[in-house]
Amino acid sequence: PHPTLLIPGPIEFDDAVLQSMSHYSESHVGAGFVKIFGETLSLLRQVVRSTDPNAQPFIINGSGTLGWDLVAANLVEAGEDVLVLSSGYFGDRFADCLTQYGAKVTKLDGPVGGVPSPAEIEKALSEKKYKLVTATHVDTSTGVLFDLKTLVQSVKKVSPDTLVIADGVCSVACEELAFDDWGLDGVITAGQKAIGAPAGLSISFFSARAVEVAHNRKIPAAAYFANMKNWTPIMKNYEAGKPSYFSTPSPQLIHALNTAFKQLLANGIEKRIAKHVEVSDYVKESIAKLGLKPVASKKEDQSHAMTAIYLPEGVGATDVLPKLLSKGVIFAAGLHATIGPKYIRFGHMGISAVNSNRGDIDKALNALKESLGECGYKA
Ligand code: PMP
Repeated sequence: PHPTLLIPGPIEFDDAVLQSMSHYSESHVGAGFVKIFGETLSLLRQVVRSTDPNAQPFIINGSGTLGWDLVAANLVEAGEDVLVLSSGYFGDRFADCLTQYGAKVTKLDGPVGGVPSPAEIEKALSEKKYKLVTATHVDTSTGVLFDLKTLVQSVKKVSPDTLVIADGVCSVACEELAFDDWGLDGVITAGQKAIGAPAGLSISFFSARAVEVAHNRKIPAAAYFANMKNWTPIMKNYEAGKPSYFSTPSPQLIHALNTAFKQLLANGIEKRIAKHVEVSDYVKESIAKLGLKPVASKKEDQSHAMTAIYLPEGVGATDVLPKLLSKGVIFAAGLHATIGPKYIRFGHMGISAVNSNRGDIDKALNALKESLGECGYKA
C-alpha cells in the first residue's frame, strides 16, 4: 500500500476516478468525448450551485494558477483598481498575478491565521471604486476560511457593478458555496483538491456580467491561451453537444473529472459539505486534545478542508514530517513567510473525509500523536 496523501491537495483518489483516466485514446472532437465534456461542464454548474443559463463554466488544461490568469488578463484593464483580500500565501500570489497584468492592486492582509476585518474592508470599499474585489475562500497556506457571502453583500451595498471573484481552489466541493444566491461573479478552482480529480485542470465559473466584461474590453486581453474570448465559444459549443476547437483538451483528465463530479453530486453536494464540517470538527477537537493549536485561531475563520497545525515549542516541521511518513502518512510543511517552519498542514478533503471506512483521518491523528511523542513531546 502507498502512503496516505493527506496534504491540502493533491488528495487521495477514488479508484473509479483513477480508472476513468485509463480511457482509450479518442478524438477531442469526436461524438463520445463531446458528450462527456459537455456533461462535465453542466455538472460544474451544480457543483457551484448555479442555475443561471447565462453564467459560464470553463474547464481548461492547466491548474489553479491559470484561474488567476483568466481573472487578471480578462476582467481588469491596465490601471484599473482591484481590491485583494488576503489571508496568506495564495492571496498574495493572486495579487502578484493581477499586478503582472497591470491592475492597480490594493491588498488588505489578515493577521497571521485570520482575515482582513470587516471594518478595514468597508473602509477600503468606501475610499475607491474597484473594478473587482478578490478573496481566497480557503487560503491553503493557513487553513483560513473567508466569509464570501458577507463580502458580496458589503460590496454590493457600496458598488453594485464591482465584480466579486473568489479563489475556490481549496474550497469548491468541501465548503458551502452558493454562486447564484450569494451573487458571486467568478470562482476559480482546480481538480486536485476537494473535487478529488488529478491535477492538470483549471476549472472556473463566471457570471454573465463577468463574461460580458471580458468580451467588451477597451484594450484586448494581453493573453492568448488565457484569453476568455477564445474559450467562451468553445465551452458553449461543447455544452451544446457540438465539437469545437481552440486548443486540445485532455480527454483522460475530463473523464476523471466527470467521474469525480458525479460521485460528489450523487448524494447532494450539501451532504458532502456537511461531512467535511463533521470531519474537520473532529480533527480540530483531536488536535486540541493533543495540546496543539490551529493556525486559524478563531472558529469562524477555520476551513473545513484542512487544518494548519502549530507544532509544539522546539519541534520543527523537518523533525515531524519524516516521522509521519515512516507511519505511512504524508502531511505538508508550512507555507507562510513568517511562521513557515513552526507548523504543518493536514488536508482532510474528499475521499479521506467522505469514506470513513478508509480510516485515513484516525490513521493520521494517531501517527501525529506518535511522531510528536518520538520528538519528545507529551500531550
Ligand atoms: N489558490 C489556492 C488557494 C491554492 O491552494 C493553490 C494551490 N495550492 C492555487 C491557487 C494554485 O493552484 P495550482 O497549484 O493548481 O496552480
